[in-house]
Amino acid sequence: MKALLVFEYRRGKLTEGNSELIDFAAGLCAQCAGVLIGEESALPAFEGKLYLGDIAVCKEYGPELHADIILQAAQKENPDYIIFTHAPYGWDLAPRVAAKLKAAQISEITGLSDGKFEVGCCSGKMRRLVRPATPRAVLTLQEGAFPFTGKAGGTPEVEKLVPTGTGSGPELAGFKEAEKHGLDLSGAEVIVSAGRGVGKKDNIPVIAELAAALKGEMGASRPVVDAGWLEHTRQVGATGQVVSPKLYVACGISGAIQHLSGMRNSEFIVAINKDKEAPISEIADVMVITDLMPFVAALTAQLKKI
Ligand SMILES: Cc1cc2nc3c(=O)[nH]c(=O)nc-3n(C[C@H](O)[C@H](O)[C@H](O)COP(=O)(O)OP(=O)(O)OC[C@H]3O[C@@H](n4cnc5c(N)ncnc54)[C@H](O)[C@@H]3O)c2cc1C
Repeated sequence: MKALLVFEYRRGKLTEGNSELIDFAAGLCAQCAGVLIGEESALPAFEGKLYLGDIAVCKEYGPELHADIILQAAQKENPDYIIFTHAPYGWDLAPRVAAKLKAAQISEITGLSDGKFEVGCCSGKMRRLVRPATPRAVLTLQEGAFPFTGKAGGTPEVEKLVPTGTGSGPELAGFKEAEKHGLDLSGAEVIVSAGRGVGKKDNIPVIAELAAALKGEMGASRPVVDAGWLEHTRQVGATGQVVSPKLYVACGISGAIQHLSGMRNSEFIVAINKDKEAPISEIADVMVITDLMPFVAALTAQLKKI
């Protein structure tokens, strides 16, 4: 099996998702080649062939020229899978490449199971296992779903490619930071997050008291924000903030991939959950299996005595 990994620069730097592509391909036991529109001075650490498009010609983004380079690499490698990160670059390019190749596209993959791809459905509450119906497929990987295990390394063998067309389509004009409204959780050392397991809005102050006793900030999972129990600026996850505190306390949070992708780099994770099989147990350093509210109240009371 062969995979073509589409590496990406964002603002002149390789993105973190590049290493996840390599780990995912290792999980598929695929022989890998890569393609990058970039510079020879900043290549992914990767053993194998790397097709390099010149960023000075193709620019950091331009759908036609980038797709042109990727399709040339695909023609040379004839891969079974062409793999992108599920981020704006991949969202825009993957369907263009899939349509040109008349290949199936599977988006936002969160896991692998017996040769099938796991993708979320029903707002992340359920998982589907799917298999492409075409011999070749274009895949996008949910960011954070395949964390880098540190196995990749090496220096790629570079082959330069030049675009065959002129790329008359849209060009990237630049990036504009989203305006920051309210709280920035990214620098917090302690975060205590409330999940749906909190049960009702009236219970939020109990979790807030624990956060205060630990001199931390409050975070939240998406259902808590959607229910209006806490403001969106406190949401942690794929569509919220990405945090890496010293201590993360997850209160009644199951550990859906979209939540984990925002907090999995926390140094120490405590999860309080009545379900010992909750997915958060896979990354928690300490799992407290209990009914949440009485435990949090008792813990806060003890902390206040210190
Ligand atoms: C495109 C997309 C983007 C998303 N972005 C985000 C995001 O940024 N952040 C995010 O958080 N989610 C996000 N989600 C939603 C995500 O898929 C999950 O639905 C969500 O994270 C689940 O939140 P939860 O863990 O609080 O709730 P649930 O999954 O319902 O889990 C509740 C947990 O509480 C436990 N529990 C219940 N009662 C008690 C009790 N009395 N005592 C102890 N434990 C109890 C349960 O065992 C369960 O594990 C996104 C989904 C999609 C599709």
